[in-house]
Amino acid sequence: MKGATVRRVVVVGNGIAGVTAADALREAGFDGELTVVGDEPYPAYSRPALSKALLTDGDDMSSCLLPPAGHGADERLGVRATGLDLDGRLVVLDDGTALPYDRLVLATGSRARRLSALPGELTLRGLDDALVLRGRLAARPSVVVVGGGPLGMEIASGCLAAGCRVTLVSRGVPLSARLGPHLAGVFAGAAREQGLTVVETGAARLGGGAGGTRVVLADGTVLDAELVVTAAGDVPNTEWLAGTGLTADGAVPVDVRGLVRPDVAAVGDLAALPTPYGPRRVPLWSSAIEQAKAAARALLHGVAAPPLSFQPYFWTEQFGLGLKAVGHLPGEGRPVYLEGGPGGGPALMRWTHADGTGVAVALDHRVSVPRLRRLSRTAA
Ligand SMILES: Cc1cc2nc3c(=O)[nH]c(=O)nc-3n(C[C@H](O)[C@H](O)[C@H](O)COP(=O)(O)OP(=O)(O)OC[C@H]3O[C@@H](n4cnc5c(N)ncnc54)[C@H](O)[C@@H]3O)c2cc1C
Repeated sequence: MKGATVRRVVVVGNGIAGVTAADALREAGFDGELTVVGDEPYPAYSRPALSKALLTDGDDMSSCLLPPAGHGADERLGVRATGLDLDGRLVVLDDGTALPYDRLVLATGSRARRLSALPGELTLRGLDDALVLRGRLAARPSVVVVGGGPLGMEIASGCLAAGCRVTLVSRGVPLSARLGPHLAGVFAGAAREQGLTVVETGAARLGGGAGGTRVVLADGTVLDAELVVTAAGDVPNTEWLAGTGLTADGAVPVDVRGLVRPDVAAVGDLAALPTPYGPRRVPLWSSAIEQAKAAARALLHGVAAPPLSFQPYFWTEQFGLGLKAVGHLPGEGRPVYLEGGPGGGPALMRWTHADGTGVAVALDHRVSVPRLRRLSRTAA
């Protein structure tokens, strides 16, 4: 390994970004002391599964299991980092101890953005949230989901599958901002067929009442429900970095390799990557993995390590449809259909953006991600 001074690496955050960084450090030859700190008491699990199979799988937990970590780190689970001393190279923990490091990975992800402090507002970010929600769905309550992005729509789909009456409150057409109008229309059709009620509104807010939590639409209409779940975006977990100067606009800006400075990397949902439009977060599972691999190599090898280069991969499962996409969504206008057509059923399509790049989208579980990667580069 280059750099004989790298004896101790600390990874803060035990989600997919932290675990992948730890694995990648080992793969890149780091054989020193490795510590992974995570405030959840569980080994890393699949967060995307929480809003998909896990919601409807009864007592089954298998959909969110990940293979056991292979990094052999000292795992400090159920422990929270509360501060960082950059000059002293120390991570301060809530159990009163401090961990020295030579290299540090910041991977504390993000949390659900709440619309209120009301206890009746449920959100879905972690395994505990999912188990609470799944438990509540067993009684088939009426549900209002606030948020028309992929997460809100997946939650609505899971609630419908559990036998609930579900209303989805969305700013504009659900999924339109994320997927574009064409794909949003495909999902809207499937959601309607399954009985979802969609209410489009301006900003909705939550209020308390004698009957529980209620949703107040922009025009003052009040929606009552036995269960209110919000999916209104996420907030990076950066509070423990207060005073370090590492954060900007609520995230941690990094360079093209994922480094904040030569001895500190930031990866996953809390990191803002350089783009032509300024630093941007890419809060996706595959992005967290690719960022972590690149940053681990950069922590050990500096500028000799290759910069981050990846095509975003996104998937969602809802209302009986499965979508996989490689490239930048949304796609504007109508796509070119490579297989199937707009009438429904399995389909493979592609958009070419104004800058010449492409996004390949499958509504067909048989289409592999490597094939989508090829198709996103060229339609041939
Ligand atoms: C319900 C749900 C469904 C999703 N579905 C998809 C999907 O279908 N496709 C997709 O691409 N992406 C999906 N995502 C997004 C994807 O899961 C995230 O992009 C990814 O998990 C980010 O990984 P991360 O390791 O950066 O953050 P996280 O997974 O949030 O992990 C960060 C970890 O650090 C811990 N932590 C926070 N603060 C501290 C602290 N101070 N000290 C110690 N530990 C701390 C957190 O508790 C957490 O365990 C979904 C997200 C959610 C919530």
